[in-house]
Amino acid sequence: MNFLSDDQKMWRETVHRFMDEEITLEYIRKCDMEREYPYEGYAKLAKAGWLQLLIPEEYGGNGASIFDYAIMCEAIGKYGFDFAAAIAVPTFTAMNVVRFGSKQQKLDYLDPFMKGERRFSISISEPSAGSDAASTRTRATLENGEYVIRGQKLWCSGAAARDVVIAMLVRTDPAAPKHQGLSVLLVPNNTPGLDIRRLPTLSRRATGTTEIFVDDAKVPEANRLGAAGQGWEIIGANLRLERIAIAAAYVGNAQTVVDTALRYAQQREQFGRPIAEFQVIKHMLADMQTQVDAARLLAYRAAEMATRGEPCDKEVAMAKLFGSETLQFVSRHGMQILGGHSMLPEADMERYFREGMQSTIGGGTSQIQRTLIAKSLSL
Ligand SMILES: Cc1cc2nc3c(=O)[nH]c(=O)nc-3n(C[C@H](O)[C@H](O)[C@H](O)COP(=O)(O)OP(=O)(O)OC[C@H]3O[C@@H](n4cnc5c(N)ncnc54)[C@H](O)[C@@H]3O)c2cc1C
Repeated sequence: MNFLSDDQKMWRETVHRFMDEEITLEYIRKCDMEREYPYEGYAKLAKAGWLQLLIPEEYGGNGASIFDYAIMCEAIGKYGFDFAAAIAVPTFTAMNVVRFGSKQQKLDYLDPFMKGERRFSISISEPSAGSDAASTRTRATLENGEYVIRGQKLWCSGAAARDVVIAMLVRTDPAAPKHQGLSVLLVPNNTPGLDIRRLPTLSRRATGTTEIFVDDAKVPEANRLGAAGQGWEIIGANLRLERIAIAAAYVGNAQTVVDTALRYAQQREQFGRPIAEFQVIKHMLADMQTQVDAARLLAYRAAEMATRGEPCDKEVAMAKLFGSETLQFVSRHGMQILGGHSMLPEADMERYFREGMQSTIGGGTSQIQRTLIAKSLSL
């Protein structure tokens, strides 16, 4: 993969070194085992100045490209997708404030976000609004300059952490057509009326994903992002960047799966020789690396097109689809290559396997990505 510029290569190496020296595999494993939000790792990334990578210079950020962001997401995914999610969710959600936020919202939210003092979560899903995300039922009614919100959100990642502002998709106009009556509100997670509960999920154990019961929670009208009724447009832009970020992070995680399985196969001896000498294992590893390389190329293509501002919904869907299915495929083979050892947390493979199982669901399922790709083929 040597078509990266020297600067891009250096950036990738810098983030990899940071992951090895500052974050470490052991820390990520511990957060997963103890279901602990990675506050310390998040603070280190904030201190390094990388939360602000995508934020334009005029708001105090680095104004880096989506491609540079994808390289970062790939590298922070190397020891597990969950840690990448803890960083990616706030960073891609912050871009909604950049794109659609008022002057005051930018002043209020971006600076504390870049310093690591305020996080963002994105809350689209509901119990009856999953793949059909626009069927949002959570209702926000404008009363005396405040939105009064009532309903239930589901699967909101990171929302139970400290100092989170939730970008929440709500229905503000029930009379309007399905996709037009939606808005996004910025709701601090300590707002009275919110009951946020972490869920005991198979993966996303450190960042945590949540259900949120919303019972007459109130936010000022000024907390609406963009115009009333602009919610679906905001979510569309969010999902484009989200899928590039997570596709890249799946690739980073998948590469570690291959590296881990390869190392193990070279060291583990059975029948008087390393298991890597059995042709069946060699071929498994060859297939795994081939698929990871292909997933990386798809993620880079999507990131490059998004950087150039070209229409890329098809390419983004392909990168998300193939990246997630790659992580699932290689981690399943990784489990097989590590044999019984794969079952133990300290081997990390069972964690990567769990990450793989959620990757084809979160951020839009594989079926939905295929539907989007088919649509681009006029089907
Ligand atoms: C760990 C985790 C973290 C998450 N984090 C967040 C978050 O931070 N914020 C947020 O808003 N959401 C989050 N989600 C929710 C995620 O986006 C949804 O789970 C996803 O969109 C699928 O919705 P669903 O689970 O309700 O499944 P459903 O939509 O009920 O789908 C069930 C099955 O039916 C299939 N299906 C549905 N419709 C179709 C169709 N039209 N054609 C073909 N097949 C179809 C699906 O592909 C799937 O296989 C998270 C989910 C997980 C697992």
